[in-house]
Amino acid sequence: MVVLNRLRRVTPVRRCNLAACSSKYVLSQMHPMWQEPLAVPGGDRQSPVDIAVKKSVFDAELKPLVTSYDPHTCQQIWNNGYSFLVEYDDTKDKNTLTGGPLQDQFRLCQFHFHWGETNEWGSEHTVDRRLFPAEVLPQLPPWSATRFAFYHLIMKFNPDYCLIPVQVGKRHEGLQKLVDALPTIRHKDSIVEFNRFDPSCLLPGNINDYWTYHGSLTTPPLTESVTWIIMKQHIEVSHDQLAVFRSLLFTSAEEEVQKSMVNNFRVQQPLRGRAIRSSFTPFLQEAP
Ligand SMILES: [Zn+2]
Repeated sequence: MVVLNRLRRVTPVRRCNLAACSSKYVLSQMHPMWQEPLAVPGGDRQSPVDIAVKKSVFDAELKPLVTSYDPHTCQQIWNNGYSFLVEYDDTKDKNTLTGGPLQDQFRLCQFHFHWGETNEWGSEHTVDRRLFPAEVLPQLPPWSATRFAFYHLIMKFNPDYCLIPVQVGKRHEGLQKLVDALPTIRHKDSIVEFNRFDPSCLLPGNINDYWTYHGSLTTPPLTESVTWIIMKQHIEVSHDQLAVFRSLLFTSAEEEVQKSMVNNFRVQQPLRGRAIRSSFTPFLQEAP
């Protein structure tokens, strides 16, 4: 009985504290899933959040991350009506993530991106809202870090996420093979075979510097079982590559009104006293 009651509980849509997210226009352009109150439980450990670098706590116990990949385990790309998923065979220990805050070894199951309608927003998590390199982003308002889409690698068993910031910049050569395949899965529910894509080409050069905190899935059922790992270093993709992401559709071929796949992110959630730990000493500490 209790379980049924919990399932019926409706969570009001929380407002995001970022200017881009609280704009009525942006909300109206988001996926229909976020337009109505959600009939799923929402607790005190929800994601995404903003990472305030100076409030993050250095934890010397956080070990380096260790990854291993086998590109031959890449199987298919799937438009699930919210993002595109690049899926891997996770029946063996071929693509794994260990170390860091993780107690066990996790297998890569899929990865996907979140992006905005324009380059001004699109990420779920943000870092200091404006922390990214000033030379690339001169004179941008404080909420501009929302322009960075993030992509996640989702690990099997515990749905832990490893998340890498993506910045609009130079063309990502490794990603291009995936970008070239996207027009074949333009509509919702289309799946194509996709082989030999090495996910390690999407990792930044330094994977030892990261933040971590306890949060939730960012799509229903919003389960609060996720250890998030957020890389400090970003990767770059070009505007043209992002334009191909935006040419995908939330809708299936049969639907009369077609909707572009953009703004496929959840708005930010309150931290509610949670600690964000870092594997490195904060790099923006001011001299005393
Ligand atoms: Zn996601």
